[in-house]
Amino acid sequence: MYAPAGVKTNTDYPIPDTMKAWVLGDPGQLSLTDKPVPVPKRAEVLVRIDAVAICATDLEIIYHGPPASILGGMPHNKNFTPGHEYMGTVVALGPGVDEYKIGQRITVEIHAGCGQCKRCREGMYTACHNYGLNYGDVDKGHRANGFTTDGGFCEYQVNHINTLVAIPDEMSDEEATLVVTAGTAMYGLTELGGLVAGESVVVTGPGPIGLLGVAVAKAMGAHPVILTGTRDNRLKIGLELAPTTSSMCARRMRSRQRAGSTEARAWTT
Ligand SMILES: [Zn+2]
Ligand SMILES: [Zn+2]
Repeated sequence: MYAPAGVKTNTDYPIPDTMKAWVLGDPGQLSLTDKPVPVPKRAEVLVRIDAVAICATDLEIIYHGPPASILGGMPHNKNFTPGHEYMGTVVALGPGVDEYKIGQRITVEIHAGCGQCKRCREGMYTACHNYGLNYGDVDKGHRANGFTTDGGFCEYQVNHINTLVAIPDEMSDEEATLVVTAGTAMYGLTELGGLVAGESVVVTGPGPIGLLGVAVAKAMGAHPVILTGTRDNRLKIGLELAPTTSSMCARRMRSRQRAGSTEARAWTT
């Protein structure tokens, strides 16, 4: 039975020693295997995964590799479990954790910064200087579950408490998997100076974040909402399309430069 030293568990939520997990082999190949249930360290909890969404980025990782980085390189054939849009129930507490309770429903954010580099100290933990540096003799405490550490295509995963978001009982498991994705779209609108009803919004390169962004912008009264990009899923939206090839970061920078200065506001996902 699962009982690591220093980890609090509860008999109401029995935890096995091993779990089912999808593991990435060659590009495009996932196989179902057994893995040990991971153990939370200080300031971490063990989450029983109740629902997981599949993001377009998961497909990028499975078929091509980046932006995942495992052991300093491509993620294939490294016993890596993808998946980053999941929610679940806290079932074990690592040493020192009293911020969350066993049995609490939560959804998760991807990134736990190292907490000690310059960017983390400024609160920019998603751009941690120690991104992926948690292998071999180096353990910087950085996690980006589904990107640099094991993710949610399995039964249990470890999350830092800073990556947890409590969710209300009325919210379904399925909805909860998309809370952080929707939050990213809301953040995009806020970064652009907020949305004024009647303004135009341009969303470039939409994956799930952009599609939720479109829903958010429409609900807030944006008109029209224009999508640009090249992926097939954009065709399903039936809105105006235009090709774009520039990188995500470059587009984000331009979006910020545009913020507040033109009628159309843009961001990318
Ligand atoms: Zn995603
Ligand atoms: Zn950092």
